[in-house]
Amino acid sequence: MKRNIAYRYRAYPDEAQEILLQKTFGCARFIWNQMLADIKAYYEKEKKQLYPTPAQYKAEYEWLKEVDSLALANVQLDLKQAFQRFFKDKKIGYPRFKAKHHSKKSYTTNLVNGNIVVSDKTIRLPKLGELKIKKHRAAPDEWKLKSVTVIQEASGKYYVSVLYEYENQVIEQNRTDKAIGLDFAMNGLYVDSDGNSAEMPHFLRESEKRLKKAQRKLSKMYVRGKEKQSNRYYKQKRRVAVLHEKVRHQRADFLHKRSRDLVNRYDYIGIEDLDMKSMSRSLRFGKSVSDNGWGMFVAMLTYKAELSGKHVIKTDRMFPSSQMCHVCGYLNTGTKDLKVRGWECPECGTHHDRDQNAAVNLKTEALRIALL
Ligand SMILES: [Zn+2]
Repeated sequence: MKRNIAYRYRAYPDEAQEILLQKTFGCARFIWNQMLADIKAYYEKEKKQLYPTPAQYKAEYEWLKEVDSLALANVQLDLKQAFQRFFKDKKIGYPRFKAKHHSKKSYTTNLVNGNIVVSDKTIRLPKLGELKIKKHRAAPDEWKLKSVTVIQEASGKYYVSVLYEYENQVIEQNRTDKAIGLDFAMNGLYVDSDGNSAEMPHFLRESEKRLKKAQRKLSKMYVRGKEKQSNRYYKQKRRVAVLHEKVRHQRADFLHKRSRDLVNRYDYIGIEDLDMKSMSRSLRFGKSVSDNGWGMFVAMLTYKAELSGKHVIKTDRMFPSSQMCHVCGYLNTGTKDLKVRGWECPECGTHHDRDQNAAVNLKTEALRIALL
């Protein structure tokens, strides 16, 4: 089976490269907006879908030729996918125009005939040449480079995200024959079957708090119905974006370390098959579920396990991990109420911590599935 994985490196463009990067971001945004406007207009007139290509715009807008043409080709693909998502699920909404100051600055280019080369200190990219990077880890030789996305974050820092494809082969193996269950927790990611929590680092919690405070301040500064907000507002908005970026990086770093540690220590990791979208909708957890990073954590855990010959086992969605007494199997429907944090089993008398009991059940169930 083929899998994808992305390695992200900080990049340090020189002055000329920075100019070209900004141009490319701008062209990508321009071609998106231009194609979207034409598709919209065509549909309103003809009631048919139009499929424009970037090449059609190059005669009129010659400066489009200055940038990496693959970057523009990828915009075409992205736009096509945005429409496909929209047609499939109207709730997703019609693709939107990208505003100059509020849209993400990035573009993607692909490997074609060796046009991209990753070396120790640089990455060679089309039109750009050798771009300096900080390479903190290297991809194994047998991985196939597919594409590179260049990003500028709100802080002004540049990054390249290098996408590789690998065959699902075990790269390292260190068998422990140990299993663990992880029960999703709103605060602190998870509780494991030994009763330990993921121990989110203090600095991450602090940054999250600062971000929330800054976001609240920003929303108070917003004046409804005014097209142009105050300078103070935009300054605060930038502050929020920078903090957000920091939190995202700190969280990703934490999730990488946590998942690596678990994969090193256990052969079987049992987790719940949670549908985050329906969960945040139905339980009104709203932002906290998506921000908590569980989805990202599961993805990291899964690919790290695959590369190490370990197993992440998702239990069936109907598996009553929170309700079942892990000692005697008694089903306590009273625990459907999320407020119940601890309970006593009426059958065997065991006192349960809600999360740890669930995690133990997930571990047992994972082993049952794994050893079938
Ligand atoms: Zn019991």
